[in-house]
Amino acid sequence: MSGCHCSSQRDTYEADRRRMVETQIVARGITDAATLRAMRTVPRHLFVPPEAARNAYTDGPEPIGYGQTISQPFIVAYMTELVRPAKGKTALEIGTGSGYQAAVLAEIVDTVYTIEIVRELATEAAARLRILGYQNIVAKYGDGYKGWPEHGPFDIIIVTAAADHIPQPLKDQLAEGGRLVMPVGNPATVQQLILLVKRKGKITETHLEPVRFVPLKRLR
Ligand code: SAH
Repeated sequence: MSGCHCSSQRDTYEADRRRMVETQIVARGITDAATLRAMRTVPRHLFVPPEAARNAYTDGPEPIGYGQTISQPFIVAYMTELVRPAKGKTALEIGTGSGYQAAVLAEIVDTVYTIEIVRELATEAAARLRILGYQNIVAKYGDGYKGWPEHGPFDIIIVTAAADHIPQPLKDQLAEGGRLVMPVGNPATVQQLILLVKRKGKITETHLEPVRFVPLKRLR
């Protein structure tokens, strides 16, 4: 794990980030030590447009351009804890956006593959993650609906865009013991976070919190 090498210059937002984790994430019941450590490490202010840096640690989503958003810090932590990240695991994320969720995962797991359908965001996120030193993230432009079969199966799949169903290719690319989390429901209004767990080839489904994500788009 390469981690972030961005602290050569003093990180003036470290206190904000610690406060974010305590008041928004620990206070709401997230306990996984690896998840909390990652949320205290990744410099969220470098994943939003420069003019929004001072809002980066507030309790909500932020626009990142092209009609897309970086998720609320709590939601990132919640989804991260749900998929039980650990050293030795491989993750797939659909919807790179800013690259923030990918970076949080990459602080914990061995390798993160991430796919983004807006070409400009894909390019910006890849550059940002490279500059920050995340050598264990592989990012590409494309439609994540079909997953990334060449690198599967994955222990962890996180979909950060909403659809009315979970794509079958993603279920197929889930490893034995693997966990997938995705917002499912009406992409235009509200969805429910769904957790899939694959055991002995069988998938069990748990319905969790109501959430609001941007829609999963398709390339045509
Ligand atoms: N995880 C991101 C936030 C995601 S917002 C972060 O941490 O910043 C959802 C993203 O999913 C948007 O950037 C959107 O363009 C992307 N997206 C939508 N449909 C997609 C698809 N079919 N494949 C890949 N990315 C998609």
